[in-house]
Amino acid sequence: MNKIELEKIKQKALEDHIPIIMDDTLEVIERELTKSKPKRLLEIGTAVGYSAICFTEFLAEDGIIDTIEREHDRVMQAMENIKKAEVEDKINIIEGDAVEILPSIDKKYDAIFIDASKGKYPFFLKEALRMLNKRGIILADNVLYKGYVMSDYNKHKQRTAVRNLREFLAQLQQNNELDTEILEVGDGLAIAKKKEESL
Ligand code: SAH
Ligand code: MG
Repeated sequence: MNKIELEKIKQKALEDHIPIIMDDTLEVIERELTKSKPKRLLEIGTAVGYSAICFTEFLAEDGIIDTIEREHDRVMQAMENIKKAEVEDKINIIEGDAVEILPSIDKKYDAIFIDASKGKYPFFLKEALRMLNKRGIILADNVLYKGYVMSDYNKHKQRTAVRNLREFLAQLQQNNELDTEILEVGDGLAIAKKKEESL
């Protein structure tokens, strides 16, 4: 991977106000991926490809990332960035709405990173659980949504997102087959792993 290009991609994304993964969140995810060395990783929410490019460093040999993005301009930018970073052979971008695409995927993944519309997290979780391999890991960004999720915040247009994020976290915690951690890094990161006894 071309690290100089990666830094440029990051700076440009920040200038353009693209909500790329925060440094502290990335650090935690990279630690998890170092341990699990996924061969197949699914990302929901590519934006301009920044996080996917970062994750390529932590794949198993011949590992591959499928990543979904619905905004055409971002898909185009992501393709360009992936080429610049010299990781085209490791990332496959799927253009479209994840809500429509996910049910049609019949592959299994070792790691699934959820980083798209917050109102859809419960649906994404249902699909992720269906596609998760044994010993698989689910990572989800922005689960505390600027602190709204844990406060009594209940106003305006974010209300549905907050309600759905709370439902998502409750579903994770109630799932007996998963060990779930919710970390206050960045905008909130959930890490859920299949418990050994459920394998
Ligand atoms: N993972 C990226 C940031 C993703 S930002 C990084 O850290 O570098 C979230 C992206 O998800 C946005 O680009 C948005 O267009 C996309 N998105 C939101 N809802 C989506 C959906 N239902 N299907 C596909 N893409 C979606
Ligand atoms: Mg995010």
